[in-house]
Amino acid sequence: MNDPTASCLFCRILRGEIPSRKVYEDENVFAFEDINPQAPTHVLIIPKKHFAGLKEAQVEDAELIGQCHLAAAEIARERKIEHGYRTVLNVGPGAGQSVFHLHVHLLGGRSLRWPPG
Ligand code: AMP
Ligand code: ZN
Repeated sequence: MNDPTASCLFCRILRGEIPSRKVYEDENVFAFEDINPQAPTHVLIIPKKHFAGLKEAQVEDAELIGQCHLAAAEIARERKIEHGYRTVLNVGPGAGQSVFHLHVHLLGGRSLRWPPG
């Protein structure tokens, strides 16, 4: 009861209840194609452990957050987009966070402007 993972979209993807296009998986991390890509490469990398976002992360989640970023770097290497890519954590609704299971966006394959909107 009151299990936040029951209705969480990304936990449902992890459980296979909702289909996704898997890009990478290991013991702690899962990565899949974003359904509404904003760049030629737009991959979401999530920890298999549910927590809502960076704001809610605990000290013990530090390694998982790092692993998500290292997975992004590996995917970027495989996709040959290392000339310039971006990893993004949207934190809170005001920054566009719409799914409250921490996820790293990996965006690349086109030129990326700064600052982001
Ligand atoms: P954010 O707005 O930072 O919370 O990012 C959520 C991302 O999840 C958005 O880029 C969405 O396009 C993406 N998204 C939503 N539903 C799905 C889905 N079923 N499969 C893959 N990506 C999704
Ligand atoms: Zn979740």
